[in-house]
Amino acid sequence: MKNGFSAAWEHIKHLQSRKLIVDTHAHAWQMGAMKANVVEHERARFSEKPVDFSAQLIADMDRHGISKAVLHMGKPVPISLMTSIIDRYPDRFLGFCKFDMPFPGRETAQQQLRERLDSHPAIKGIGEVTFSRFGKQSYEDVLLDLRSVTEVAKERGVPVLFHTGFGTASPLRYYDPSILDELAMAYPEVTIIIGHAGGIHPPFNDLALMVAFKNDNVYLETSKAMAPILQKGLDEIGADRILFGSDWIRPEALIYGPKSERSAHLYERNLEVIAHLRMTEEDREKVLCKNIERLLGNS
Ligand SMILES: [Zn+2]
Repeated sequence: MKNGFSAAWEHIKHLQSRKLIVDTHAHAWQMGAMKANVVEHERARFSEKPVDFSAQLIADMDRHGISKAVLHMGKPVPISLMTSIIDRYPDRFLGFCKFDMPFPGRETAQQQLRERLDSHPAIKGIGEVTFSRFGKQSYEDVLLDLRSVTEVAKERGVPVLFHTGFGTASPLRYYDPSILDELAMAYPEVTIIIGHAGGIHPPFNDLALMVAFKNDNVYLETSKAMAPILQKGLDEIGADRILFGSDWIRPEALIYGPKSERSAHLYERNLEVIAHLRMTEEDREKVLCKNIERLLGNS
């Protein structure tokens, strides 16, 4: 009899060959040249013009049997870059939009989100929201900023994905998913997606689980996440609130940062984590495609 891991891989290959897998979290632009270290990377984040990596992303999706990807505005890019990429590959990409960075203030952010959600029918949500670079405010101020963003998600009936886990742009407390518990409680009708399920490192990934256990409107997205954390999520709350993602940013591994983070955005790594999870084929299909299709109204 085959062991669970190889049976899971065979099922994943079957879904790949039928072009059913949807990536909930990808980025199609990057700062062009690979940076040598974290300091250079952070310096370039706002000063360098983003380079369109969509052709490389499509090639990687084709290699790994990924049918569609939801693109997120992570780096500060004009919405026109995202919509032009979607128009080039209309069967392969959907988009989540964001406000300008640094945070332009609550009212302006809300206005930008409304305009961007209306700008193209393939824009289906808000993300990737980082509460990291909102500035030097108090916790209460950050919460009010996040509430203003979530308010638009409520108004438009769209999901919102937040970055959690590892990051180098801001103090660590800004990557802590526990702040999302307050939002999830305040907006029970809004679908809140915890990007990276709290990430590779404890305690944030344990906290992400706690937030998902507490709130039925919270989903865990699997990019850069750890199999034991996702397994606990599956065992405790089931497969309906787990979404496959890659956080694809470029086709090769990074050469800077902690080793566990360097290849964490590659499809090989993220699909392997899914293959390690014990679940039924029906649940695996939910995680790899059906849940996100249901959320975005495509099934
Ligand atoms: Zn992220």
